[in-house]
Amino acid sequence: MKIPIINSKRQYETIAAKAESAVLDVMRSGSYILGANNKEFEKEMCNYLGCSHTVALNSGTDALHLALRALNIGEGDEVISTAFTFVATSESIGIVGAKPVFVDIDPDTFNLDAEKIEAAITPKTKAIIPVHLYGQPCDMDKIMEIAKRHNLYVIEDACQAIGAEYKGRKVGTIGDIGCFSFYPTKNLGTMGDGGLLSTNSEEIKDRVIALRNHGGAVRYHHDEIGVNSRLDEIQAAILRVKLPYIDSWNKSRRDHAAYYNELFASCDLIKTPKELNDTYCVYHQYTIKVPMRDEVHKMLSEMGIGAMIYYPIPLHLQKVHEKYNFKEGMLPNTEKNTKLVLSIPMFAEITKEEQQEVAKCVIECVTKLAGKQTVIA
Ligand SMILES: *Cc1c(COP(=O)(O)O)cnc(C)c1O
Repeated sequence: MKIPIINSKRQYETIAAKAESAVLDVMRSGSYILGANNKEFEKEMCNYLGCSHTVALNSGTDALHLALRALNIGEGDEVISTAFTFVATSESIGIVGAKPVFVDIDPDTFNLDAEKIEAAITPKTKAIIPVHLYGQPCDMDKIMEIAKRHNLYVIEDACQAIGAEYKGRKVGTIGDIGCFSFYPTKNLGTMGDGGLLSTNSEEIKDRVIALRNHGGAVRYHHDEIGVNSRLDEIQAAILRVKLPYIDSWNKSRRDHAAYYNELFASCDLIKTPKELNDTYCVYHQYTIKVPMRDEVHKMLSEMGIGAMIYYPIPLHLQKVHEKYNFKEGMLPNTEKNTKLVLSIPMFAEITKEEQQEVAKCVIECVTKLAGKQTVIA
């Protein structure tokens, strides 16, 4: 049985009639950019997240970099974040000309280790970007407390975590700004690119509205260099069809995660994901740690199981940041865990039979290789 890491077609089939009719309505309306669907989607997202303002954008990457622009962060500034994430997080820091300062992760959650943030703060530090990786909320109380004490902004990278909660609050609404992505494979994915920024500040909202449309709130009046980062109406219409389902899709992911935990319970070579107390993790990925990860990955591919490594190279060791001369060894938990993590098939529509097959194959690979190495971090 071939099982992909995500099956987007299966989800499409569940909403096809509604999505096709919504797209047809946009095509027939003649209004394709910044129209009614954008306005309504922004309102619906405010409602969903429980925040005052949202601005729809072309991608999660744009949400991150326009967040930094809106806070006037740029050349000469430092931004603290994690190297255990998708490149867009630190890329956005680079886009505005600021320097990424990486702090190590907590190996249980793969998220920023809040205890290590303070040591990285300098007079140049302007903001912290915690990433709710794999849909798992960061320890926001500690991060907010440190930010407050040092007068720093907090920009939450919630691109993988729509609907996740920390102590009853949706992630992306706890810091000054939240950033979301609607890339097709995200928990709320559209059929192209899309993103959104959330905030409770009217000032930030107004600035981002101007920045996304060539730096001017009034047509043909440009106050600063902006970008073209609008969400098109077709994508907004599709997202409006899908948004009412996100909670039930996330709930399914959580049920699937619990079932995987059960299936792996008998195999102590496999380390299953941990959740922080009082959080609601939305399992964008279900990520295990296994010994001899690369060999397991290869064997699973040969068996038709779509496992993936998110992410094989930590950001401080990427060529894009070579000018900072970050050294191997500076983030031991990040470096160690990049070599252990393996994400296995996870999507709302996966069946119990498919999960059983995945688990059977993973356990078979891991135990077959176990003779060579049995300790797992
Ligand atoms: C997907 C993702 C982004 C970027 O989103 P795009 O919409 O693809 O630009 C940023 N950060 C993280 C953690 C992501 O997973």
